[in-house]
Amino acid sequence: MALLSVKDLVIEFRLSKRKNIRAVSGVSFTLNQGETLALVGESGSGKTTTALSLMRLLPNNGAITSGEIIYAGKDVVNAPDERLRRLRWKEIAIIFQGAMNALNPVLTIEKQIVEVIMLHEDISEIQARERAVELIKRVEIDPKRLDQYPHEFSGGMRQRVMIAMALACNPKIIIGDEPTTALDVMVQAQIFELLETLKKEMSLSMILITHDLSILGDICDKVAVMYAGQIVEYGDVQSIYCDPKHPYTEKLLSSYPVIGGKRGIPDSIPGLSPDMAEDFQGCRFEPRCHKALEICKTLPPLRTCGENHQYLCHLEGD
Ligand code: SF4
Repeated sequence: MALLSVKDLVIEFRLSKRKNIRAVSGVSFTLNQGETLALVGESGSGKTTTALSLMRLLPNNGAITSGEIIYAGKDVVNAPDERLRRLRWKEIAIIFQGAMNALNPVLTIEKQIVEVIMLHEDISEIQARERAVELIKRVEIDPKRLDQYPHEFSGGMRQRVMIAMALACNPKIIIGDEPTTALDVMVQAQIFELLETLKKEMSLSMILITHDLSILGDICDKVAVMYAGQIVEYGDVQSIYCDPKHPYTEKLLSSYPVIGGKRGIPDSIPGLSPDMAEDFQGCRFEPRCHKALEICKTLPPLRTCGENHQYLCHLEGD
């Protein structure tokens, strides 16, 4: 049985009395223990909304209107508050985007880690401080730096602190929401290396959210490509990278330069994402798709090609 299973998830936001938008439409995926899933797509595709719903952390105007989320065999969508409190941080933890904004600038790193631990665990402050030392060592920071403030840390170090905080209650799943945004390429690589080490040492499962498909090949097992609130392609990392079927995935893969690859300007995807308040009658990618046909003005079918590979498109195979 999968550790986490999401089926036909629909999430809506109320923008005004008369206007609702459907930010996530019929999203399904599974995550097994020790697995890493990448949720990939451009801004506004529904990646973060999907991830937040797993912990029932949607903003007040957002709601899961149908579908199911099952974690460790139990329903999350209708879970009572007591179970939700345990689920958040103790079972599923999140590393938020932008470490500088997520950390409190007027509190020391130690104070912030200790606060997270004491909020969720029934332990004394001394025990929480000892745990903070363990955690900071785990993310390869010298514990002597615990009494420093966020502004005394580099971007990469602050992101390590965020990872330490996410690990504070020994969760089973870590969600990384663009965990390396605004970091340079070398530091990105170090953060991913650290996440990979922690995943192995602690048997963690991970969901990594990113708009950059090029950085995940080495650390992911599965990829879900999202566009305009839907998963348009889903499969194991090998199939997605070596044999992408959906035109949007193809374009995403060719929009980043490959080291040692052909010289030239990487591809771009013309146009903008659709207005999510629209009532879609056809393929959501159709106005931007380089392979669009007349039939694409009708809803595309979900196609299966191979055991673990699905895509939402009218085109069959290549
Ligand atoms: Fe492109 Fe048509 Fe496939 Fe949509 S259904 S991705 S428009 S080919």
